[in-house]
Amino acid sequence: MSHTFSDIIKLPEDGKRKAPFLIYLNTLQGRGPDRFRVFLIGRAMGESFYKSKRWRKLRGRILARDGYRCQEAKRYGKVVPANTVHHIFPMTDYPQYRWEPWNLLSLSNDAHNQMHDRNTGELTDKGRELLERTARKYGVEI
Ligand SMILES: [Zn+2]
Repeated sequence: MSHTFSDIIKLPEDGKRKAPFLIYLNTLQGRGPDRFRVFLIGRAMGESFYKSKRWRKLRGRILARDGYRCQEAKRYGKVVPANTVHHIFPMTDYPQYRWEPWNLLSLSNDAHNQMHDRNTGELTDKGRELLERTARKYGVEI
């Protein structure tokens, strides 16, 4: 049995489904705002996503495309190795863009940590600015 991320978000929380992530969703029901639950589910799904062969292959392509350099440091004329590929439009809110090369950017760990608020799962102001720049550049609606 498999569901896409957007399917799972739309499924009723009736507890009768067998999808593992729905069970996860029900477990979390009533604890905190929906957005936070969506974030946690996204994290759980993300674990299998990031382990997938398709992702590892795409990640390698993006790092090569970006010359294995942090693209945030590059904006400031600095040369810093990249070791992370960031989803500019987060998978939790925009699963439809998760495989799009334009939505992926090579970053150093430091630069990547500046894009995410690890406590809330939200983008930081910096992460949001990058999203808005990218949206303008590729004509993507936010
Ligand atoms: Zn990221």
